[in-house]
Amino acid sequence: MPLGVSIPVSEVRRYMGFRGPVESSPETDAMISKAISSLEKDCSPKYVSRAFPVKVEGFSVYIADIVIESRALARNLAGCTECVLFAATAGPACDMLVKRASVTSSAYASCCQAAGAAAIEAYCDLINDKIKEEYEAKGLYTRPRFSPGYGDLKLSHQKDWFRLLDITKNTGVELTDSLLMVPTKSVTAVIGLSPNKLPCVKQGCEACTMSQTCAFSRKE
Ligand code: SF4
Repeated sequence: MPLGVSIPVSEVRRYMGFRGPVESSPETDAMISKAISSLEKDCSPKYVSRAFPVKVEGFSVYIADIVIESRALARNLAGCTECVLFAATAGPACDMLVKRASVTSSAYASCCQAAGAAAIEAYCDLINDKIKEEYEAKGLYTRPRFSPGYGDLKLSHQKDWFRLLDITKNTGVELTDSLLMVPTKSVTAVIGLSPNKLPCVKQGCEACTMSQTCAFSRKE
């Protein structure tokens, strides 16, 4: 499978707003399956990553030559000695599929949009697992990934990620003047690396049972 990972149906349904007792119709389920099959086959994922030392002072985070002012990121990276910046993309297949589908069926286009969002998340989880495994062998433990635009981490820092990782050259992803990435199913993020082991969950602090008490939770 070119994506390298399955796209979970439950995640696609979640992105479409089907939660709890809300049922989808058999027609919608069939469209979701079709969108998942198409994207698992046609995605052309790529990623680039690089480790940097990190320093946190108050609400300022120092990575390479950049200073990031973010209370939530500073909390999340407190105690980290290094971090990994990464960028990942599922490739242009989702955008093309949504564009084609929207001509004939807005319902199918919505399924494709949700399947694309689930695809890039699943691919990022795969990269996250690789980074976790690589650094745990060196005695460093990952914190949940954190993306520009999340909480008080300004979206304008996308430009720093693009410069430090040479994202366009390494993955083909471009950044527009309005800070949107093309292809749209692309992600930039930082993953903190700490010598302190925490029971972090892949879904991030919002889904973690320790989020109310953990000193490193990005959830305020
Ligand atoms: S709240 Fe949970 S996921 Fe977030 S840093 Fe703490 S242990 Fe890790």
